Amino acid sequence: MTEPLSSGAALHALVARLYRIPRSLAGPGVRETLTILAGHAPIETRELASGTPVADWEAPREWVLRSARLIAPDGRVVADAAVHNLHVLNFSVGHRAVVSRAELEGHLFSLPGRPDAIPYRTSYWRENWGFCLPHRVREALPAGDYRVEIDAEQVAGAMSWGEAALAGESADEVLFSTHVCHPQLANDNLSGLVVMTALAAELAARPRRRLSYRFLFAPGTVGAIAWLATHEALLPRLRHGLVAAGLGDGGRFHYKRTRRGTAPIDFVVPRALARLGEAPVVEDFVPFGYDERQFNSPGYALPVGSLTRTPWGRYPEYHTSDDDLDFVRPEHLERSLAALRAVVDELEHREVFVNLCPRGEPRLGRHGLYRAIGGDDAGRERELALLWVLNLSDGENDLPTIAERARLPEARVREAVEALLEAGLLAPA
Ligand code: ZN
Repeated sequence: MTEPLSSGAALHALVARLYRIPRSLAGPGVRETLTILAGHAPIETRELASGTPVADWEAPREWVLRSARLIAPDGRVVADAAVHNLHVLNFSVGHRAVVSRAELEGHLFSLPGRPDAIPYRTSYWRENWGFCLPHRVREALPAGDYRVEIDAEQVAGAMSWGEAALAGESADEVLFSTHVCHPQLANDNLSGLVVMTALAAELAARPRRRLSYRFLFAPGTVGAIAWLATHEALLPRLRHGLVAAGLGDGGRFHYKRTRRGTAPIDFVVPRALARLGEAPVVEDFVPFGYDERQFNSPGYALPVGSLTRTPWGRYPEYHTSDDDLDFVRPEHLERSLAALRAVVDELEHREVFVNLCPRGEPRLGRHGLYRAIGGDDAGRERELALLWVLNLSDGENDLPTIAERARLPEARVREAVEALLEAGLLAPA
């Protein structure tokens, strides 16, 4: 619990500090990363033994990388993990051999369309070894014998994730989740890790939190699945969730809705960003992307949306060595933190009501509510506002969301809420 992380410069400095750590699904890289993050926010490391079954998966073995070099026939080192982590196929098995250029070919990865960048490739679930390198370098490799020196192993140990749980006045929880498994890539996803750590630190320091918050820093896919499988008893308390990643590039904010599409978070995030002066792109749920896939799988169907700047795969630097410390800018990190903070503030101040007469519509006249309506156009709008508030006050929709769905001015909806409260037909949730 040390330095404040709120400035863009501090956020960027933390990205830089984490940049070179060789992370993977599990192993010392993730542990070291979580330890550093824990220096800024109350994040605890949790572990699950390798091989433990979780849903249709199992906790992976740990990847321990000591060195990885590919040496050309003339003695030149053409790929070296000490120069860039991405040079080695992530989760590569150890391999020491002399191979021909032809044999090497099947173990090389490059991007013809981006010939100067090193691609990011993994082989988590299939034993393989390999090197990633710029396509231009690969094309120029001569025939001859190559020395492969990969000093790495996959060992039984544990998969680690980081978790920060901040209790609030209500047991209702908000989940923020981001992935921790990527190696030397700045936007995907060191940006998500540092911005979320900063948010956790800020919330931990607040004297009062209405809601409870949980921050999850887990390896992609299997990490989220493991967390879900081991926390099922807690899930009914999870009222709102957001997967956040890719928060350091200069692109517009993109909010991806929950699978249901009408959860409170689906209204809260676009509203919070609009109040901040941002114009986010809002997209419907699709079952690919980050770990919103797991939270929105049909067995869980949790109200978890996703916030990024430019979404994954839609920028040319994505999953390449060009996603570097220059690609991620301090001002974008700082603005992304402001965006998440705005989402929290919106969640903390939601006004939600329950209809106390929910079986059929109440007889408005009997409750004196026709007096509040009148016969003119404004009267028609007042009646609609009453009906919308009654219909959507199920303990979930908040006042601005009702106004948005009803396409009525917020003031008109507030007036209806007041009248219904007075008539005893509505109560705060
Ligand atoms: Zn990625």
